[in-house]
Amino acid sequence: MSGGDMAKPLLGHGSMEGDPSITPAAGQTIGVLGSGDFARSLAIRLVCSGFKVVVGSRNPKRKAGLFPSAAEVTFQAEAVKKTDVIFVAVFREHYSTLCDLADVLAGKILVDVSNNTEINHHKESNAEYLASLFPACTVVKGFNVVSAWTLQSGARDGNKQVLICSNNQEAKRTVAEIAQVMGFTPVDMGCMSSAREIENIPLRLLPAWKIPIFLALGLFLCFFTYNLVRQVIHPYIREQKNKFYKIPIEVVNTTLPCVAYVMLSLVYLPGVLAACSQLYYGTKYRRFPDWLDQWLQHRKQIGLLSFFCAALHAVYSLCLPMRRSHRYQLIEMAVKQAVEKKMNIWVEEEVWRMEIYISVGIIALGLLSLLAITSLPSIANSLNWREFSFIQSTLGFIALVISTLHTLTYGWSRAFDENQYKFYLPPTYTLTLLVPCTVILAKVIFSLPCIQQRLLRIRRGWEKGRYVKFVLPSATGEYSSGETSSNV
Ligand code: NAP
Repeated sequence: MSGGDMAKPLLGHGSMEGDPSITPAAGQTIGVLGSGDFARSLAIRLVCSGFKVVVGSRNPKRKAGLFPSAAEVTFQAEAVKKTDVIFVAVFREHYSTLCDLADVLAGKILVDVSNNTEINHHKESNAEYLASLFPACTVVKGFNVVSAWTLQSGARDGNKQVLICSNNQEAKRTVAEIAQVMGFTPVDMGCMSSAREIENIPLRLLPAWKIPIFLALGLFLCFFTYNLVRQVIHPYIREQKNKFYKIPIEVVNTTLPCVAYVMLSLVYLPGVLAACSQLYYGTKYRRFPDWLDQWLQHRKQIGLLSFFCAALHAVYSLCLPMRRSHRYQLIEMAVKQAVEKKMNIWVEEEVWRMEIYISVGIIALGLLSLLAITSLPSIANSLNWREFSFIQSTLGFIALVISTLHTLTYGWSRAFDENQYKFYLPPTYTLTLLVPCTVILAKVIFSLPCIQQRLLRIRRGWEKGRYVKFVLPSATGEYSSGETSSNV
């Protein structure tokens, strides 16, 4: 690995200006115990950030070639003697093999960078275990959430946050300072009891996505089965027609928009339920039930999954004419038309329906893309609160209305055609309209001046049945205050 990528720290030294308590520590000697992947990446970044690095290995001769020439690679005891801050880049199970170094390590800061293979794998965190083995040292937990790859990839990519915890403020400050000089953003996680939590972080797999993904999969399964019965099973049982070829594309493509549309409405439904609860109890200070709280917190992920399904639907739809089955059907229709000597098959209503259907579909997808892009942290951070809420709330609701138009133009009059009721099952689009139309109706009701005003007052702190302090202008233009019932 060349040092080229590492020429600059992830963040410039200027970023330290924000915290005057932190002073650059470049030039200081830092020790690294271990010569594996993490130790190597750490040494490279430390060297490029202006530190002197001494690496302690059990076999320095063999490992020296793997490190930049500016880093000194020596025996563990030798390395430890030369520095006061030592990164322990060794797995937990090998900590005990370092016990021979206890005397030379006494009084020094040990940075525990280790991770586990399972959440809450051991009774005590690795950092606490290290501290118990070396009571004469000060242990700081940190850098474990940064991968060796992130250390190497430099400013281009990767997580820049380094979570740090320790029972010793001074040691924590020293490690935070090193992290900052290396271009990372140190985050103080408090005392050593947080180490367990910090060690669990790299092991979590998309915790915020679990519920939305299960929701999307559940909806997909339900709509897929429903469409399968209507589009494949019904013609097979009733007319002995083999339509199984429809499963990979047509059935999937009729399922995806259903999931996307219902998921989009589920982004706005919890807001409606929250507003109903606030109106009913006449306060915003009453806690929502846990399930509603959870739901409100997952709106971003639900929205992104809705966009994902909508994007897949667009791609599938564009590919429909590429299918062999479609070509055969077109030829079949043309032959039939020729045999029946039909000259004009143009149906004006159908033409208009398709034009509008496709057009509103494209607009809805465009709006969903905008919502997805603005939910990315880097973009969201560049927007002020009003801009963010306009895009996510107002434009999002418009996207829901346009998606409803897209669904209605797709369905057109099919809901009133009894041939569309396969096994007495109504067309799928009628089912998908249920939740979104409820949300739209609720939003319309909430926009009625009498309800909107009450909701606005509640959201500004007004409470039903409570006495509030009010301020009234006097005849002289001065203000006088008093108490009144907020219900008046
Ligand atoms: P690694 O490549 O296997 O290196 C581990 C090193 O530990 C070895 O190179 C070895 O160096 C040293 N060691 C000391 N005593 C040992 C012993 N008794 N038996 C075996 N090795 C011993 O592992 P790594 O990926 O660098 O990970 C090191 C630590 O960093 C782990 O705690 C890991 O959880 C943590 N970490 C790694 C990453 C990552 O992306 N790799 C990310 C975050 C945290 P010598 O032979 O020179 O002594």
